[in-house]
Amino acid sequence: MSEARLIDGTAIAGALRQRVADAAADLHRRHRVTAGLAAILVGDDPASQIYIRNKARACAQAGIASFEHHLPADAGVAAIVALIQTLNADDRVDGILVQLPLPCGTDPRAVIAALDPAKDVDGFHPVNVGHLWRGEAGLVPCTPQGIMLLLRSVQPDMAGAEAVVLGRSPIVGRPVAALLLAADCTVTIAHSKTRDIAAVCRRADILVAATGHPAVVTADQIKPGATVIDVGINRIAMPDGGVRLVGDVDFAAARTVAGAITPVPGGVGPMTIACLLRNTLIAACRRRNLPDPLAPQA
Ligand code: NAP
Repeated sequence: MSEARLIDGTAIAGALRQRVADAAADLHRRHRVTAGLAAILVGDDPASQIYIRNKARACAQAGIASFEHHLPADAGVAAIVALIQTLNADDRVDGILVQLPLPCGTDPRAVIAALDPAKDVDGFHPVNVGHLWRGEAGLVPCTPQGIMLLLRSVQPDMAGAEAVVLGRSPIVGRPVAALLLAADCTVTIAHSKTRDIAAVCRRADILVAATGHPAVVTADQIKPGATVIDVGINRIAMPDGGVRLVGDVDFAAARTVAGAITPVPGGVGPMTIACLLRNTLIAACRRRNLPDPLAPQA
């Protein structure tokens, strides 16, 4: 039985981070500009604190300045928006990210709407969402952008492919569907109310699973030779008290059917930070009317 090709997200993300670092150094050499990323953390969620620390470390490695802002969990929308307005006006800051989820009771839509779309490096502002669906240049959400880079590593031309996206969240499912459409795929978005999901999946030349449920995609749902991108990050408690990370796809079985597949961990995960750095550099250049420093986004 043949095994699917592994799409190595760690290696692809590492190469992208190096390209970003080279381009950031070039930007500084030619224009004396250091790109800057500001991160806003509201509350004390331990996982969010780790993400923010990792992002700051990744910025430092890429030669991007990072600015951290920590607000208390009960700060409220007005205080967060006031901070965002300060950062919108700060010329050292090219990208602003608001670490999600926000504490209960803080409306993320009101917060995201306050971002300058030109600094919205997560690509969640309605202006950037509009650009994405219109096929125009904007800032593209990081995880979906990373998914497209992984797909292109095994399938540079996706025109005409049947693509099925499992999940319709604004963070993953919807934007990746827009990008697949822009890449000339025939796109189906499936979700928890979709009838006969197995039959829908079996049509897919490209299957992107972003449901947040461990191993819901089984080998019999995969078309032989399909490219499978597993976005899911699910923590499974082990009998020894430890925790194991698994995706949305039954990896071991799927690998015997698919043509190419991402592992979890080591697939989509590392791409997200790499694309955040990339977006920050792109934002730094666009804000100064300099040409895009890296190849087309996705
Ligand atoms: P989400 O907001 O919970 O959305 C999940 C989506 O999956 C919903 O649209 C839901 O449908 C759909 N769904 C649920 N069960 C399904 C099923 N059995 N078949 C088909 N669709 C189903 O999650 P998310 O934020 O998009 O994240 C999805 C997964 O990706 C999570 O595991 C998350 O941790 C991971 N993730 C990874 C990264 C990364 O960097 N690698 C980044 C972001 C997210 P309804 O809309 O009908 O409820």
